[in-house]
Amino acid sequence: MFPPPSVIPAKAGIQEGPERGKHGQRNVNEPARQDSFYFKLFDRLDAPGCPICGIVIHDSRSYLDSVLYERVTDVPTREALRESFGLCNPHTWLLRDLPASSAPDLGFAIIAQDLLNRFHGMTGPRPVSGWRTLKSWLTRASSTLRARLKKTTCPACVHGARSESVHLRQLLDLLGDETFSEKYRGSSGICVPHFLIAEESHPAHPRLADLRHIQRRKAEALRGTLDRFIEKHDHRARDEITPAEARAWTDSMEFLGGKSGVFCSELHRQSSHWMRGSSTR
Ligand SMILES: [Zn+2]
Ligand SMILES: [Zn+2]
Repeated sequence: MFPPPSVIPAKAGIQEGPERGKHGQRNVNEPARQDSFYFKLFDRLDAPGCPICGIVIHDSRSYLDSVLYERVTDVPTREALRESFGLCNPHTWLLRDLPASSAPDLGFAIIAQDLLNRFHGMTGPRPVSGWRTLKSWLTRASSTLRARLKKTTCPACVHGARSESVHLRQLLDLLGDETFSEKYRGSSGICVPHFLIAEESHPAHPRLADLRHIQRRKAEALRGTLDRFIEKHDHRARDEITPAEARAWTDSMEFLGGKSGVFCSELHRQSSHWMRGSSTR
C-alpha cells in the first residue's frame, strides 16, 4: 500500500531524525517534538494490536479528513489528486468512515468529477494529422493509459508512509528508554510486516536486537495461547477456553498481517505476473 521509505519526501510536522542547526546542534524545538512522539507512541501501547499500524491508520484518516473538510477546493490539493488519479482502493473506501461533519459525500463528488473528466479526456479518439499531432500520438502510444492517468502515488499513502517511517524509527530509539521499553514489553508489540520493515530500514540500529528479542517472545507467547486454544477443542478437554485463548486467532491475524487496510493484498502483483507470463508464451 505504501511507497518505500526512500522515496518519501520530508515534510514539516513529521520529520525523520533530530532537526539540527548549522553546526549540528539540536534544534531548540526538538525536545518538544521528541516528547510528542514519545507520548503518541506510549499512549498507543495501551490499545490492542500494532501501535505503528494504529498510528498510520489514524494519521491517514486525519489527512483525508483535512482534505475533505478544508482543502477539497484548494488548487494544489486538487491538482495532486488529478496526478495520482485519486486515492488507492483502501483510502477511497476509508472516506465512508469519515464523520458527516467532513462532508465526505460532497468532497468526493468534487474529486470524482475531476477524475471522470480526466478519464473521459484521455480515452477519446484523437485525429492524426500534421507533425504536432503525430508527435503527441507517438508520445501517447509509448505509455500505457494507466501511466498517463496515474502519474503519482496516492497522496494518503504518501502521508501514511511518512508517518510509518518516522514512528518506526522513533519506536526503535525509544526502546533505549527504560520506562518506554518496559511498557512496550507489556504491550501487543508491532506486527510482523512492520518488524520486517524495521529490519530492512534500520539494519544497524543499536536497538534492533532488543526489538527482535521482544518480538520473538511475543510470537512464542501467542503460539502458546494458540496451542491451548486448539487443545481445548479436543472432546476430552475439561477446561473452559479463556477470553485470551478465544481471541488468540484474531490476535495472530493482526500480529502476522498487520491491521486491516495497512498492507495491500498481493492479488495484482500475482495477476500481473501471470499476465506477463501468458503474453510471452
Ligand atoms: Zn503494524
Ligand atoms: Zn492510499
